[in-house]
Amino acid sequence: MPETIAEAVARRRTFAIIAHPDAGKTTLTEKLLLFGGAIQLAGEVKAKKDRIQTRSDWMKIERERGISVVTSVMTFEYGGNVFNILDTPGHEDFADDTYRTLTAVDAAVMVIDAAKGIEPRTLKLFEVCRMRDIPIITFVNKMDRESRDPFEILDEVEEKLALDTAPITWPIGRSKTFCGSYHLADNTVRGSDTEVTVTPVNGPQSVADRLPENERAAFIEETELAIEACRPFDRQAFLEGHMTPVFFGSALRNYGVRDLIEALGEFAPPPRDQVADIRKVHAAEDRMTAFVFKIQANMDPNHRDRIAFARVCSGKLERGMKARLSRTGKQLGLTAPQFFFASQRQLADTAYAGDVVGIPNHGTLRIGDTLTEGEPLVFQGVPNFSPEILRRVRLEDAMKAKKLKEALQQMAEEGVVQLFSPEDGSPAIVGVVGALQLDVLKERLAAEYGLPVSFEMSRFSVCRWIAADQPAELEKFLSTHRGDIARDLDGDPVYLAQDGFSLRYESERYPAIRMAAIKEYH
Ligand code: GDP
Repeated sequence: MPETIAEAVARRRTFAIIAHPDAGKTTLTEKLLLFGGAIQLAGEVKAKKDRIQTRSDWMKIERERGISVVTSVMTFEYGGNVFNILDTPGHEDFADDTYRTLTAVDAAVMVIDAAKGIEPRTLKLFEVCRMRDIPIITFVNKMDRESRDPFEILDEVEEKLALDTAPITWPIGRSKTFCGSYHLADNTVRGSDTEVTVTPVNGPQSVADRLPENERAAFIEETELAIEACRPFDRQAFLEGHMTPVFFGSALRNYGVRDLIEALGEFAPPPRDQVADIRKVHAAEDRMTAFVFKIQANMDPNHRDRIAFARVCSGKLERGMKARLSRTGKQLGLTAPQFFFASQRQLADTAYAGDVVGIPNHGTLRIGDTLTEGEPLVFQGVPNFSPEILRRVRLEDAMKAKKLKEALQQMAEEGVVQLFSPEDGSPAIVGVVGALQLDVLKERLAAEYGLPVSFEMSRFSVCRWIAADQPAELEKFLSTHRGDIARDLDGDPVYLAQDGFSLRYESERYPAIRMAAIKEYH
């Protein structure tokens, strides 16, 4: 019997990995794909990263600085579940991209370096997950090296993140003697990830002989203490974001990765309901809905196109179907939706809620767009962050102003930068959250459009989206501040201020005007 929509949805787990750079996100991703059978050899994720980098000019920046700018999605199956990993850039200058990606996941894996504990980026990303009530599974990585005491790591998570911890496994051994995981609740063990199933044992003392003699007593004592004293796992508390199950392992040496995949299958939620403007959309509904959270150009020079990454929120997305784009009300043929595997793309015949498909297009789709089978609903919540840096783009060849305008418009639609057109007709201002985004813009304008540019300070440093309940109030503000008003890509007005002081001053003078640092696409 063919699978029903409800069955297909129930099997899906869509998640992101959040980590401070160097904690092991890439290695863990590779291993998840390896054990999920999606790739033949570990190392392909990195290999792919390198290949894209050497092929594509603008990614030179990425290569030079050793950071990952690309967000992509990878799919694998394990134990009857379909897993979608949404990759996020590690560098904080691309934080807005990461935050938007987090709107498209149902759970997150937080990777912690066992020697370092909670690091600044981990904390920041965790806060975004908490804002969105995304349940988190913790993976303490690099147990094969000198590490902190596991109890100390649990305490740190509890204190710094105000999150209850429930260790599911306990490490057998430490650094050189680390050799597997002890499952606290059911007294089973798994050695390396080459072991597909876990083996029942007779309490911690029965596995102590896997360790050198001088470590055995401490292991038994510690593990028994963990069994007795640690909180039992409470799935409800986990789903509500109050508790995290914790696993110990080593992605590099293949320990704990299967424990983690199985936990994702067992504990992590299937695709969640999504909030739209007119109603809530349930994942198992018959009719297809989806939203775009990411646009990417030039993923592969063999396909010179723009890919919109859309998360399916309900129903079944089938190749060849027609979808309605809510922003314009126009129909869009989904003739070649794609799935992404570690090393290739593949045409997607059918995708269900939780899946992410790439939709090739030439600029029709934008970040935040909603696709439906006809219903005029719009998903809420894909955020746009007010830029921290505002610059004017200076063109070396003034004859190319029109081309620059088009190029900037396209870059803005892709979410590379934000674009603001001042009401007084002065040249456009670009805004970014992190300085590296400006480097990407410069590099791409030169490589793809033949437009060498530089950036000039603008007299503004802060930007806020403005609105008012009474249209007349807004009009008054707009007309009295004409030199400081610009329109964003959607034509929504923003107020540009010289500094925080003038922003505060104006917002006190005009209490009827709402000034927002975050705009949700709609
Ligand atoms: P990312 O920046 O979070 O993607 O981190 P990577 O996966 O690139 O890993 C950073 C470094 O840590 C690399 O040199 C990895 O080989 C190493 N690494 C990752 N996982 C482990 C582990 O479990 N044990 C050890 N010893 N090294 C690891």
